[in-house]
Amino acid sequence: MKNSAPYRTGQRLPLNAGTPAGEEDQSLVLRLSVNPRARRISIRIDARTGEVVAVAPSERRLSDAVAFARSKADWISERLEARVEGLPLEPGATILLHGRPTRLEATGTAGAARLVREAGGPVIRSGGDGEAFGRRVENLLKREARTQLTARTEHHLRSLNQKPVKVSIVDTRSRWGSCSPHNRSIRYSWRVVLAPPEVLDYLAAHEVAHLVHADHSPAYWSVVHRLVGDHRPFRAWLREHGQALHAVGR
Ligand SMILES: [Zn+2]
Repeated sequence: MKNSAPYRTGQRLPLNAGTPAGEEDQSLVLRLSVNPRARRISIRIDARTGEVVAVAPSERRLSDAVAFARSKADWISERLEARVEGLPLEPGATILLHGRPTRLEATGTAGAARLVREAGGPVIRSGGDGEAFGRRVENLLKREARTQLTARTEHHLRSLNQKPVKVSIVDTRSRWGSCSPHNRSIRYSWRVVLAPPEVLDYLAAHEVAHLVHADHSPAYWSVVHRLVGDHRPFRAWLREHGQALHAVGR
């Protein structure tokens, strides 16, 4: 149907037309925006969310803006890669851990990084100078990721009466997690430990549910729903904060 306006302002869709909307998928999001003062269609990158925004002077012209943005998908990806806004792991920095702002502090010793809970909030204290400090903090984050992801994976495996799987912790840009039912192995990006615990839990449920259905069919989603309820808020959280999680330690 090519009648009125198939798109509306504020709508989000995958930048790549053929990309399935898998929850653990980090494919670029295209947000549609109408600006009556705009002279023509254009694309820009939202500095806060990392979303690609397609701007059109009217809703009627949004479909042109979508087509334009999709024709430039490769160029946009390159621009985003170049736009590194890192958040180095150094003393004084504040990162998210388990969804909570967590301060990094140097101990001035040679000791390993430790997570301590203080009245003012969680703090990671670590020894090591310069790069060594960052490495120790990152190791702690990865350990924490493995502990939490393994625990939630085992929990969901039990719920579905599934046998154990091999859990790997990786650092990929393209996916938050992946599941190989054939090899009974699940891989997670360690960065999801930076997200609130319920988002991490959802990711574990997402991957474990793939042992039952290796697709994103309605039957698959009903298994996910049984494990964690409505998945949409978790998905939205990852979409909104994905860019920020990727900045940590870069
Ligand atoms: Zn999936």
